[in-house]
Amino acid sequence: MQNIAGAVALAAIVCSQAKADDARFADFPVYQGDDLELTVCPAGTSFALWSPEAQAARVLIYNTGLNGEPVMTLDMAKGQQGVWRAAVPEQLYGKFYTFQIQYDGRWLDETPGIWAKAAGANGKRAAIIDFDATDPAGWADDKGPAISSITDAVIYEMHHRDFSISPTSGIANKGKFLALTEEGTHSPMGDKTGIDHLKELGITHVHILPSYDYNSVDETNLPANQYNWGYDPWNYNVPEGSYSTNPSDPATRVREMKQMVKSLHDNGIGVVMDVVYNHTANNDDSNFSLTAPGYFYRHRPDGSYSDASGCGNETASERQMMRDYIVNSVLYWAKEYHIDGFRFDLMGIHDIETMNEVAAALKAYNPSIFVYGEGWTAGDSPLPGEQRALKDNAYLMPGVAVFSDDIRDAVKGHYSNAADRGFATGKPGNEETVKIGIVGATAHPQVDYAKGNNSRKPYAAAPTQVINYVSCHDDLTLTDKLAKSMPDATEADRQRAARLAQTIVFTSQGTPFMFAGEEVFRDKKGVHNSYKSPDSINAIDWTLKHDNAEQFAYYKELIRLRREHPAFRMTTTEDVAKHLVFDDVKQPNVISYSLIDHANGDEWKEIKLIFNGSDEPVEVKVPRGRWTVIANDCQINVDGLGTFKGGKAIVVPVSALILAR
Ligand code: CA
Repeated sequence: MQNIAGAVALAAIVCSQAKADDARFADFPVYQGDDLELTVCPAGTSFALWSPEAQAARVLIYNTGLNGEPVMTLDMAKGQQGVWRAAVPEQLYGKFYTFQIQYDGRWLDETPGIWAKAAGANGKRAAIIDFDATDPAGWADDKGPAISSITDAVIYEMHHRDFSISPTSGIANKGKFLALTEEGTHSPMGDKTGIDHLKELGITHVHILPSYDYNSVDETNLPANQYNWGYDPWNYNVPEGSYSTNPSDPATRVREMKQMVKSLHDNGIGVVMDVVYNHTANNDDSNFSLTAPGYFYRHRPDGSYSDASGCGNETASERQMMRDYIVNSVLYWAKEYHIDGFRFDLMGIHDIETMNEVAAALKAYNPSIFVYGEGWTAGDSPLPGEQRALKDNAYLMPGVAVFSDDIRDAVKGHYSNAADRGFATGKPGNEETVKIGIVGATAHPQVDYAKGNNSRKPYAAAPTQVINYVSCHDDLTLTDKLAKSMPDATEADRQRAARLAQTIVFTSQGTPFMFAGEEVFRDKKGVHNSYKSPDSINAIDWTLKHDNAEQFAYYKELIRLRREHPAFRMTTTEDVAKHLVFDDVKQPNVISYSLIDHANGDEWKEIKLIFNGSDEPVEVKVPRGRWTVIANDCQINVDGLGTFKGGKAIVVPVSALILAR
């Protein structure tokens, strides 16, 4: 231990450019111990930094998370496997620390490392805290919902600020983790909001947009009310400070995020975290670069950062220490924060082997945890296509699900062309692609994949590998998409189109996913990329729940239909091929099919679903029998709207007819 307070001016030089030859990283030593960076035990505090090319390394200890000089500097000694070590014989709880390495003859900027688990404001310094002291009461017995298959989940994608920041939420801790711990909240009209709203709607899992420590929002200036989605990772293993009530106290965000998880769990709702290991907010001055320059990223032959993320860089999951990092990081969130699922941003940047290891490690820890991701990249990558965790390679990753852009674009129109319409809004030519969604992208004898608009092959080995949706935080909300593609329609007609679109999603094989607020027909004022738009664009106005009460009631009942009937939640390709039968329909924008023979153990022998996305009534022949009408003319009731004896049925324009017997 060397006390140098105020004695040394620290160099602050950013490394210029990572060295070009990626092949050399394969020879780097690998360290798989579980003590990287910080360990506190009764004997003291030890630090271990993996940095094979560092010429020297040191730890700087501070009393504060920002500002001030180090109170202690520890020179680290190089040990085996590229790990540098230092230790002190005391527990440094309450202190902050950074690492600094000498590389190419220069001291690089300080970094909290890549394994900081707590941090000061803006995450510039890691913090040493007692994690046991952050556990809410009853945490040891806390558990998320047990599910036997991802297809039993109903996923609700939300941003912390969107969900609670509006004054109409009636929530005290607006925009905070704690918003999801408040019960009994309501809108000015008395409609339930917050966690009570989620329970009323009936979803099983919330998917929270990035909640690790991201870069863009200044945690020291919360009154500025900055907004960001958070796809700019800074510390992967620390909760985001701006969602806590006190970003300057490192324990607060940890405790409050756990309180959020516990509160959701206590109400039977699981928590999925959006994780963004595919790129970092910064390049040369990211924590990866300041720890082991070059190693964690892919590069072009000229040495520049390759950019499959479209954000300036891409990480290199095929390298052992990056792969281990991703696996260990999600395991950490599962163990320390009891997270129930993970959504991988731009998963196609990662390699297949890494995603399989992620799924296997999580399932081994908790079989109810599930993993899904975006099976695409935003730009080209040096990683060969056959190694990428792409949608078309999903069948090679049986424990991982992918978003179906097939059903998304086919039902509502192409995501990038606002005016384009889809099956539910009257544009013909999307029928076969909608069917790909209905069968969960599995091989089905009646689906001709050659006619698919996006994928041309059954990419899922089972329906458990597909996430069906028609909108998410990206691109236009469903409400805005319908406004732009149906400019002459009334709002009531657009709500009908939304009901048809979501009925297709929620009755399809696979796992349904919805964007928060669509159940009250929320919009984002036509802004498609609202990643840093103000609350005036992104906040959900909860008075809409009153104005669009019928829309909400429809969504709620639709979710109940799915949750009460396993026929919509088959788990194998064989079951879907055997129990899902399409009718031969000639009219454009019409799909008719049945789920037969008590599919997946359903109490109903047969469920017939007829979707009419055209603007004409459609007449269909239904076998004679004692049918219960479940949905008709944009009304739905799982207990039945009435009865039908079969024969000629009229499906009114832009609606679903669902019959059961
Ligand atoms: Ca942050």
